[in-house]
Amino acid sequence: MASHIVGYPRMGPKRELKFALESFWDKKSGAEDLEKVATDLRASIWKQMSEAGIKYIPSNTFSYYDQVLDTTAMLGAVPDRYSWTGGEIGHDTYFSMARGNAIVPAMEMTKWFDTNYHFIVPELAPETKFSYASHKAVSEYKEAKALGVDTVPVLVGPVSYLLLSKAAKGVEKSFSPLSLLSGILPIYKEVVAELKAAGASWIQFDEPTLVKDLAAHELAAFSSAYAELEPTLSGLNVLVETYFADVPAESYKTLTSLSGVTAYGFDLVRGTKTLDLVKSAGFPSGKYLFAGVVDGRNIWADDLAASLSTLQSLETVVGKDKLVVSTSCSLMHTAVDLVNETKLDSEIKSWLAFAAQKVVEVDALAKALAGQKDEAYFAANAAAQASRRSSPRVNNEEVQKAAAALKGSDHRRATTVSSRLDAQQKKLNLPVLPTTTIGSFPQTVELRRVRREYKAKKVTEEEYVKAIEEEIRKVVKIQEDLDIDVLVHGEPERNDMVEYFGEQLSGFAFTANGWVQSYGSRCVKPPIIYGDVSRPKAMTVFWSKMAQDMTPRPMKGMLTGPVTILNWSFVRNDQPRFETCYQIALAIKKEVEDLEAAGIQVIQIDEAALREGLPLRKSEHAFYLDWAVHSFRITNCGVQDTTQIHTHMCYSNFNDIILSIINMDADVITIENSRSDEKLLSVFREGVTYGAGIGPGVYDIHSPRIPSTEEIADRVNKMLAVLDTNILWVNPDCGLKTRKYAEVMPALTAMVNAAKLIRTQL
Ligand code: GLN
Ligand code: ZN
Repeated sequence: MASHIVGYPRMGPKRELKFALESFWDKKSGAEDLEKVATDLRASIWKQMSEAGIKYIPSNTFSYYDQVLDTTAMLGAVPDRYSWTGGEIGHDTYFSMARGNAIVPAMEMTKWFDTNYHFIVPELAPETKFSYASHKAVSEYKEAKALGVDTVPVLVGPVSYLLLSKAAKGVEKSFSPLSLLSGILPIYKEVVAELKAAGASWIQFDEPTLVKDLAAHELAAFSSAYAELEPTLSGLNVLVETYFADVPAESYKTLTSLSGVTAYGFDLVRGTKTLDLVKSAGFPSGKYLFAGVVDGRNIWADDLAASLSTLQSLETVVGKDKLVVSTSCSLMHTAVDLVNETKLDSEIKSWLAFAAQKVVEVDALAKALAGQKDEAYFAANAAAQASRRSSPRVNNEEVQKAAAALKGSDHRRATTVSSRLDAQQKKLNLPVLPTTTIGSFPQTVELRRVRREYKAKKVTEEEYVKAIEEEIRKVVKIQEDLDIDVLVHGEPERNDMVEYFGEQLSGFAFTANGWVQSYGSRCVKPPIIYGDVSRPKAMTVFWSKMAQDMTPRPMKGMLTGPVTILNWSFVRNDQPRFETCYQIALAIKKEVEDLEAAGIQVIQIDEAALREGLPLRKSEHAFYLDWAVHSFRITNCGVQDTTQIHTHMCYSNFNDIILSIINMDADVITIENSRSDEKLLSVFREGVTYGAGIGPGVYDIHSPRIPSTEEIADRVNKMLAVLDTNILWVNPDCGLKTRKYAEVMPALTAMVNAAKLIRTQL
């Protein structure tokens, strides 16, 4: 019985690649240093998999930045603005596309399906010329071979590549990248021929778009692409790998009848329906099934007994020698190696498996299927599964009962948003076009140092509180001097909007090295939600009350919402996501009520990541939006009419979920907007009625550029053409945490001046 790994993290167990990349970009080291780190990482990964006993080991899953960008390089599809003159693409052109350079900006980046990984979006036009311009796939194959490891080279499949591409500026309306299929296939043929010549006997095409809702002509493109590749592929075993969801029945039919393909990879963790399809619709005889039973997107140890029985049920369908044990997707979406977690206690550790441990699980399952079950290993796994199920650290009956009671019921404030806004205005007495900011103020080196030293117990609690208090006082004074209407405390006590709450809630654990690549050299370290979530004590009331006591102006309480906490964490796999979300919602609800009781009149509950959690398939959107929006409402359904609830969202592209956003029933929403005014306003122009307060960001905080009063005023006027004067707020796009005071002061001055200017013109 064989084993396979779809892909492996590139960053290294201690983020070695990150540091090598950043040092290279800063010109502190040369290309050779960077390449050495990369070569060593690849070698150790191949060695580790081969020592674990994995039969089908991937190559070309390493990347200096992104696998889609690697494919763009392979195809020579460099946009003109990078002035590439042909030949093999080097670091300069490659990193210019990824990050921009002194003259031209980077290519666009977007989320890889519903993961937190971001890829570089190919930009194609009818006249894009293709040429074989990066031999990376072949050289990695040869590199592994020289080390004695015969790998399966992995390519982003040609159809997925085009479906993930966008039309270049100017041809957006008239051109579909998919029309370039016949242009890119000759390059794929060259690559395949070279891999064959180098000795490859397998090749893997990642075609994850097959799990999305596809139109008939898109499915047809798969059939024609593989038919055209077939002659070149002959003599090779060809695996088409899908992941992140089940393959819809129509697509399954197309997929399993592709020419030249001898193996299919399925995500059986998220794609349980695919499992039924294989059993009911049948599986082509003589072909391989790569069964992705080990979760590549989570950090939980596999339930080996359950996986084994799934695999055994498949054996009878596809045949013993045609079943390959695999991961659900590339392991790049999980943390790297549990051995580096020295601070997690052994009980929690026994419940976890990072990439290195998942490789071992895959191998153990393959061996067990082949009749060589490692009884001790399986027994230890079963014991860990049992301890996780019954642990009092996981189970809190009271929380479970309270959360279960929420399902199927509704929670919302009793009165309409317009009557609440009236009640709030009587109390708050704000001018028209009230000004505010999103929460954080610049985080200085000094501030980070104090927080770090407090954590390391190098400064006392008293000293820490004093330092933070001084910072809050400074931020309050700045805002009063600027004449901002609704103030924030600046969030100096937080390093991260999820971690800060996770650390104070029960049911969360934190890793030391559980990094996952987000984009390029950037990694995130999501908290692990392992148990029922509860709030032992108030989390933010102390600071918010302190800040409110410093000023007569309203001070916003500042919380992260349940959906965002959920979407930015590694979540439990032993209960549905919505259940975990409801638990978090109940904990945040208590905090909201404590803030209200402490005299806080305006409370902002950030849902920065609500849209990110949207499932891949449209058929699942309604269910997600229903419980996500419900969770948000749970947090604040109990407050008085006079307490003003704000929420904030970090994306502008929300036209498709506008009704859900309205359904959140917040009193005021602030949203990122400045880079896409037109899009947002078009929703309202199209007649969506919106009675709540709304603050579309008036300037881009992601850029150091300082906006002028005129430009902000102009923007606000454009908004006023579409939105009522009495609901419009004036605020930046997002938090100011990453900016410098030298940028923030003039930008906020311009913002307040713009609001005042327009007030005089109304
Ligand atoms: N309140 C948070 C801040 O201002 C919001 C951050 C975010 O939306 N990502 O930093
Ligand atoms: Zn934001």
